[in-house]
Amino acid sequence: CGIVGYVGTEDAKEILLKGLEKLEYRGYDSAGIAISNHDGIHVYKEKGRIASLRDIVDQSQSATVGIGHTRWATHGVPSQLNAHPHQSTSARYTIVHNGVIENYEHVRRDYLSDVEMVSDTDTEIIVQLVEKFANEGASTEEAFRKALSLLKGSYATALLDLEDPNTIYVGKNKSPLLVGVSDGVNVVASDAMAMIQVTNEFVEIMDEEIVIVTKDDVTIKTLDGVNVERAPYVAELDA
Ligand code: GLU
Repeated sequence: CGIVGYVGTEDAKEILLKGLEKLEYRGYDSAGIAISNHDGIHVYKEKGRIASLRDIVDQSQSATVGIGHTRWATHGVPSQLNAHPHQSTSARYTIVHNGVIENYEHVRRDYLSDVEMVSDTDTEIIVQLVEKFANEGASTEEAFRKALSLLKGSYATALLDLEDPNTIYVGKNKSPLLVGVSDGVNVVASDAMAMIQVTNEFVEIMDEEIVIVTKDDVTIKTLDGVNVERAPYVAELDA
């Protein structure tokens, strides 16, 4: 399983699908992408092979921002419904996540008792928490940091906000995650292999950090909101 993300100037669909294909070796039961453009966030997800996902992606939708996921089910059977991306109730937020949220039942009971869940995944609580905190007045970045602070377990996660279509918010704890940087394009991946066709410069992300990724900027922060500076390294891989 793995995640990918792209913010740049080219069409994100194909870059995300190719990236997911490069992650196939890690194993998966479902796959999905979400792309963000002027008329909204478009989610495509399917049980089974990436080839099946490719078949349902609307080729007439183009976007320069998107996230993708291959799922290895831990909570909820492999199905179209449980495949990622998942969305918050209002559909403002869209998320992909690799890992396991160990305390998701507690978090759900303590914070989300009034929220109707769509899927059987542990992941959905993350996106619903972000929406809850945003509804209470937090910025997306604050809501995301607050949500991740409540979680126990592992995550490599990427979030899209309908109200800020040019930004990907990512978070990491105990699951692999890299941010790839280049001129006017930045990417996210569980493994450098997935995005080596876009860039060979990557920034390592540490546990309990978030990254705010736009096409021109990569901002790393701790879950407490403290800025982190970290230089990229060059990955020696063949494209
Ligand atoms: N725990 C999540 C789920 O079951 C993510 C699984 C994964 O790492 O792909 O949907």
